[in-house]
Amino acid sequence: MPVPSIIAIDGPAASGKSTLGFRLAEALGYLYFDTGLMYRAVTWLALNRGIDVYDESAVTRLAEDVPIEVTAPSREDGRACDVVVDGHDITWEIRKPEVDANVSVVSAYPGVRQALTIQQRRIGMRGRVVMVGRDIGTVVLPEADLKIYLDASPEERAQRRHREILGRGGQASYQDVLEQVRDRDRIDSTRAVAPLKPAADAVILDSDSLDADQVFERVYALCKG
Ligand code: C5P
Repeated sequence: MPVPSIIAIDGPAASGKSTLGFRLAEALGYLYFDTGLMYRAVTWLALNRGIDVYDESAVTRLAEDVPIEVTAPSREDGRACDVVVDGHDITWEIRKPEVDANVSVVSAYPGVRQALTIQQRRIGMRGRVVMVGRDIGTVVLPEADLKIYLDASPEERAQRRHREILGRGGQASYQDVLEQVRDRDRIDSTRAVAPLKPAADAVILDSDSLDADQVFERVYALCKG
């Protein structure tokens, strides 16, 4: 089997998708593209401009009108890329708890999804890409050559997210993070358009029982056939 050119990785929050996707793209010499940051950028924009995230048409207009620039990393501070909107470098801003708390509301809007999916598909169809998100294998790139669905229990994912927040100097209780992970799962998997779910032809991996190296080795082996 030839090495897959379009690789889709989906799964719930903090399942290890980004770590896997980044590493895989690096190993294969492919572009790594994290679609979650686009939904986060629209959410950040709404909050920053004082737009109510429940105002669907105003938020949709933002997604349609404001370009989100995703470029190669300009700094070595742990970022996988630069995210620039309205002239602001928002690479780290979009990881803040207020964005976490509102992004699932924003990403449930069909118009927002449509605007961002078009851009994601354009990038993905060029090939030699590892694209990470919730609906890549099902909606954005159903023709992907390899589809991975990475899962883990809410408790394990909350623990990882909690460590990440503390590691960045932030503050949060484990219980709050767990509640938010569950909340996000619920909204992401029950929305009407492009809900979080594995594609019928996805390889499902559970990262509760596998560490990051093992997950990578399994997927890399699938790529090498
Ligand atoms: O992956 P990340 O946690 O950064 O994604 C943030 C949010 O963006 C998700 O909780 C989900 O609501 C939304 N998202 C989405 N579709 C994608 C990627 C992310 O709905 N392809």
